[in-house]
Amino acid sequence: MLMIQLTLPWFVFIYLTVFLAGILIFWIGYEMLQKRLSYSASRHMTRCRICCGLLKPSSTNELLCCPSCGSLNEPNHQGGL
Ligand SMILES: [Zn+2]
Repeated sequence: MLMIQLTLPWFVFIYLTVFLAGILIFWIGYEMLQKRLSYSASRHMTRCRICCGLLKPSSTNELLCCPSCGSLNEPNHQGGL
């Protein structure tokens, strides 16, 4: 009887702890992934020099035409920021 009374709360406690830890780990991993994805996306995106609009990145080195103002921009390969 004593064994069962001790085991069930412990089982629930351990189950909840593992469950919450799993959610926490998943959440932190998701946040880090999201941050990394947005960081790499913003790094590879090129901003228009005239209107600061985002331009689609291209694999080639040809000039990018801004869809907003129509100005030509060089693909961004500079570091910084
Ligand atoms: Zn522009």
